[in-house]
Amino acid sequence: MNKIRIGILGYGNLGRGVELGILQNEDMELVGVFTRRDPKTLTLATEKSKAYHIKEAREMADIIDVMILCSGSKSDLPVQGPEFAALFNTVDGFDTHAKIQDYYEKVNEAASKAKKTCIIASGWDPGMFSLNRLYAEVILPKGKGYTFWGKGVSQGHSDAIRRVEGVEDARQYTIPIEEALDRVRKGELPDFTPRQKHIRECFVVAKEGADLKRIENEIKSMPDYFSDYDTIVHFISKEELEKNHNKMPHGGVVIHSGKTGLNDENTHVIEYSLKLDSNPDFTANVLLAYARAAYRLNKEGIYGAKTVFDIAPAYLSMKSGEELRRTLL
Ligand code: NDP
Repeated sequence: MNKIRIGILGYGNLGRGVELGILQNEDMELVGVFTRRDPKTLTLATEKSKAYHIKEAREMADIIDVMILCSGSKSDLPVQGPEFAALFNTVDGFDTHAKIQDYYEKVNEAASKAKKTCIIASGWDPGMFSLNRLYAEVILPKGKGYTFWGKGVSQGHSDAIRRVEGVEDARQYTIPIEEALDRVRKGELPDFTPRQKHIRECFVVAKEGADLKRIENEIKSMPDYFSDYDTIVHFISKEELEKNHNKMPHGGVVIHSGKTGLNDENTHVIEYSLKLDSNPDFTANVLLAYARAAYRLNKEGIYGAKTVFDIAPAYLSMKSGEELRRTLL
């Protein structure tokens, strides 16, 4: 079997997750990890993996079937996404929801010109959650969908706390409010404010001599991040943070309830739930399944940018159509 040759662009949490995930997919092999840093400084997860400088990627375009873009969504992917779409089939986890359409257009233009297939905004949200929102909405058009996140670490919110003066390190957990979840699970269709759906709990290591009251106030009143939520702030030691908050769990639920029947007498509730010990490992495995789809679609001459909405499920699987029909249908 010809293996799908994978490249990894960017080596952070997600890049490492993809490196490990390839080992679980026997139809794939890693060509190399590409980084903006000195490749010699990277400690890769497995001995067999090789690291290269990002500048070397272009010359290796012929021996890489799909490049998985594992860089940050905020400022890396908006540049690297279209740039790499001109050279490789790509998959990424671009997760700035409000900017996905703009990103799609730029990647689509580059990929279409270069006859490449580039799957953007894959992962779990956007990604698996998006698919479940869509399936639920088309099945129960007379209804309403809800997404709850957590309990889990939000990297973006943790970073925002680290930018407050006097903060050395921080971890922020997003926690869904059980009462709100219960109401939705019962088939009610409430309108929630952000405060009614999630709590934000922060574990903060302050610098020596810092004014804790001011830090707490600054966090709680931070617009866009905390001011619309009930926020709990705990000050803890660096050791405690490293010991008790060193993992990256996440997850959440997509719930959609809707009515059918002449007088709306039937209520239906659809729920898709994820409980992830490691957000990057799980996201990486989703990206790998979509890498398989990008490879196949490209072979069929289907080019341009795609999202999870455009990919038929069978393209994600290593199994043949016959095997899928026999085992999973
Ligand atoms: P990281 O911050 O760990 O890594 C991002 C990039 O930063 C890396 O690719 C790497 O690029 C660089 N980097 C990493 N570590 C260091 C370091 N020690 N020093 C200097 N540079 C470093 O982000 P994650 O891997 O956790 O996440 C990547 C993106 O994945 C996120 O921005 C998020 O948008 C997305 N994501 C999407 C999800 C979804 O469901 N769709 C879920 C989770 C994440 P380089 O090697 O080139 O220096």
